[in-house]
Amino acid sequence: MRDYYEVLGVSRDASASDLKKAYYKLAKQYHPDVNPGDKTAEDKFKEAAEAYQVLSDEDRRARYDRYGHDGLRNNGGMGGGFGSVEDIFSAFGDIFGDFFGGRASGGRRQARGNDVRVDLQLTFPEAVWGASKDIKVQRDVACTTCSGSGAKPGTKPETCHTCNGRGQVVHNQGFFMVQSTCPRCRGEGRVVKEACGDCNGRRTQVETTTLSVTVPPGVDDGQTLRLAGKGETPPGGGAPGHLYVVLHVRGDERFQREGDDILTEVPVSFVKAILGGEVEVPTLDDNCDSVATVDIKPGTQPGDHVVRKGAGVPRLGKQGRGDQVVRWRVEIPTKLTTRQSELLRELAGELDEDVKAEKKSLFGRLKK
Ligand SMILES: [Zn+2]
Ligand SMILES: [Zn+2]
Repeated sequence: MRDYYEVLGVSRDASASDLKKAYYKLAKQYHPDVNPGDKTAEDKFKEAAEAYQVLSDEDRRARYDRYGHDGLRNNGGMGGGFGSVEDIFSAFGDIFGDFFGGRASGGRRQARGNDVRVDLQLTFPEAVWGASKDIKVQRDVACTTCSGSGAKPGTKPETCHTCNGRGQVVHNQGFFMVQSTCPRCRGEGRVVKEACGDCNGRRTQVETTTLSVTVPPGVDDGQTLRLAGKGETPPGGGAPGHLYVVLHVRGDERFQREGDDILTEVPVSFVKAILGGEVEVPTLDDNCDSVATVDIKPGTQPGDHVVRKGAGVPRLGKQGRGDQVVRWRVEIPTKLTTRQSELLRELAGELDEDVKAEKKSLFGRLKK
């Protein structure tokens, strides 16, 4: 048995896309449609498919790299490759679909309804603590006049006689039977003779509904909630699509969010930063409207922070909360009374600091 890398003509460290490219090239070259009745080409076609099937699977590739062909045989017994060309088409149908114009697209695809996207505005507390919100959703639903058939009431869609209702037509192409979507009914299997006047044969009408959405605690701006099955239902029946609710969260100047953690900048006077004390800090509790008293230790520097463990945002879908990081913004006064200025100058003398001489304003001089 030939080495799989050799078969595909790639190096042992080939990437997934290298493998795919190499396989496409060989599959095209040795494709039975291009080489009808050529046994050598068919063998090459099978060999390439087998090599690609193994190397495109991370686990099996790793096993093959370590133990060679034996590694694959020991595990599950599969190493023998494909019995027939048809097996290859069923294994790689999608790949051939891309390359050979839907060659192996088997059967009629069951249509799922369209997905619907809506935007939802949330306040900061709603995102943190969760909320129940009503949203307006516009969806295409089956036309009530014709019950989604698209046919004028009193008439019925007829079975398409081109495909006998199968939605697919089969024709010979060289050596093989090729199946494709029926061109007359476009895969529906039925044709409408007289269209419903209300939907013009579109089979759907637009409906606006209000849905209640439960927003879980801990969501963040830009996240999307997926409401399974709340999208559109195909007019002919079938699985509904999904509703995607894209969240937009308004910011709050007191709380800066970083994942589940919250950063809060709190102003503190330079005197308190030097001597220590207590500071009131806004917190997320009580719908983001509470305060906590936090100790500030003597000698606190600008930018120093304290961490309030577990006082952050609830972890989405999990237990617990992030942290609140409180960063002190030490404020330097821009205006001082004469008395305050005197005290500071006294302190400057004590610290042996050479400070700027007092500027006597005209007003100051007059007062003395
Ligand atoms: Zn209708
Ligand atoms: Zn048809």
